[in-house]
Amino acid sequence: MEGEKRPAPYEGLFADGHLILWTLCSVLLPVFITFWCSLQRSRRQLHRRDIFRKSKHGWRDTDLFSQPTYCCVCTQHILLGAFCDCCGLRVDEGCLKKADKRFQCKEIMLKSDGRALDAMPHHWIRGNVPLCSCCVVCKQQCGSQPKLCDYRCIWCQKTVHDECMKNSLKNEKCDFGEFKNLIIPPSYLTSINQMRKDKKTDYAVLASKLGKQWTPLIILANSRSGTNMGEGLLGEFRILLNPVQVFDVTKTPPVKALQLCTLLPCHSARVLVCGGDGTVGWVLDAVDEMKIKGQEKYIPQVAVLPLGTGNDLSNTLGWGTGYAGEIPVAQVLRNVMEADGIKLDRWKVQVTNKGYYNLRKPKEFTMNNYFSVGPDALMALNFHAHREKAPSLFSSRILNKAVYLFYGTKDCLVQECKDLNKKVELELDGERVELPNLEGIIVLNIGYWGGGCRLWEGMGDETYPLARHDDGLLEVVGVYGSFHCAQIQVKLANPFRIGQAHTVRLILKCSMMPMQVDGEPWAQGPCTVTITHKTHALMLYFSGEQTDDDISSTSDQEDIKETE
Ligand SMILES: [Zn+2]
Ligand SMILES: [Zn+2]
Ligand SMILES: [Zn+2]
Ligand SMILES: [Zn+2]
Repeated sequence: MEGEKRPAPYEGLFADGHLILWTLCSVLLPVFITFWCSLQRSRRQLHRRDIFRKSKHGWRDTDLFSQPTYCCVCTQHILLGAFCDCCGLRVDEGCLKKADKRFQCKEIMLKSDGRALDAMPHHWIRGNVPLCSCCVVCKQQCGSQPKLCDYRCIWCQKTVHDECMKNSLKNEKCDFGEFKNLIIPPSYLTSINQMRKDKKTDYAVLASKLGKQWTPLIILANSRSGTNMGEGLLGEFRILLNPVQVFDVTKTPPVKALQLCTLLPCHSARVLVCGGDGTVGWVLDAVDEMKIKGQEKYIPQVAVLPLGTGNDLSNTLGWGTGYAGEIPVAQVLRNVMEADGIKLDRWKVQVTNKGYYNLRKPKEFTMNNYFSVGPDALMALNFHAHREKAPSLFSSRILNKAVYLFYGTKDCLVQECKDLNKKVELELDGERVELPNLEGIIVLNIGYWGGGCRLWEGMGDETYPLARHDDGLLEVVGVYGSFHCAQIQVKLANPFRIGQAHTVRLILKCSMMPMQVDGEPWAQGPCTVTITHKTHALMLYFSGEQTDDDISSTSDQEDIKETE
């Protein structure tokens, strides 16, 4: 009996050993597998990035294609993979290398200069034609079959069935389709290059071949504006236009990008700025720099695709306060073609600090929208300070609006701008103005203020001459407090209209006050603020349908049209 019992401890130990071994296995094996997988993945990623870097295509990764997609090499249905944001090729990871070698991307400039200027054939790519496209030959719907089928020309965007594709179509010259008046043809750049080599600068001869209607469009998009919407827009514009005319201003600053205008015929270029009012200001500064360089005749007209929220400048010019993809990018281009030229006043705001010991140069700003001192500047300042502290919180449009509203109401309680009229002196065109008991003064160049409110007209119950942005006049109004500000925004009150003037001088005698120029706020001690006319910018005004979702401002816009 004893003999039988003896081995028990060993058995137990043996069993324990097993247990430990199995436990180790069950823990270590998944760890090992995960590690191995991630190693493989990072190796694959490196390999792919290498292809992306060397490629002539503009490859981008995606985890999910937005429409049924088939690989252009193996023709299989794919959910994820890569696409080229210039020519639109789509491919799965395994076929990427083959696709890169086999297919040519959009040639931004023709290589062989033996070819005549106007003899570029279509560049067809097969499969993944846009939904609801129509065949140029039989006029029936294209690309509706669940397989890699049908063709699209990457320049003119025409689509054709596999069955309808004929040799004549393969050799036909491409007319660049609907947007031919906006596209810079690759052959044009080739000829320009040749002319520059021959030291000739008379580009007008070339342009005459493209017709008087030709107003090439340069896209300047801020990929950081509007919760990174700019990034996707860049790709969509590269597909529809020549990639050479599409710039990301965070990579190529506007001053550099605008030099493309000097290769185009005089007074023909147009620019579409995709970004907030701040980006528009940045581009207009670059345009002013062209004037200084003596490139006045190459200056483009500027249209806006507003990103983010509350863009008052863009709203004043008829482009809405913020674009969130409501209309397709092709429609945006159509709107730009329809838009009319208009002038925009730009102003110099000079802030000279008071005091003998202050030897710093006066601060200088260029103002497009408005200058203000008082509650609305304070609101912007608080908002600004918090955004700097926790930027991730401020990436959503709706949250931004909510936070802004919260600061608005909070400031009703904190009356930091009390008795402004006792702290400042205001001069309009050199004449001193008596002020009532105010808390804030707003100086406007454009019609809209505070994210879509027409300030000068107020409730619209009194007939005042409309605020214009091209008359060389500033509108100066006062507000009694932040509650009054809020009332004006919902059209329950009128601002206190102080007057219109060509120059405005404001002297802050004591204490710190919040100030802002075009939404850029700061806290300012005693100083003199002088606002004088600086220059005109050439803009494009869109009078068609509003892209704005704000109903009240849409009706406002209509009011203006009626009175004009
Ligand atoms: Zn494939
Ligand atoms: Zn490509
Ligand atoms: Zn074509
Ligand atoms: Zn057809």
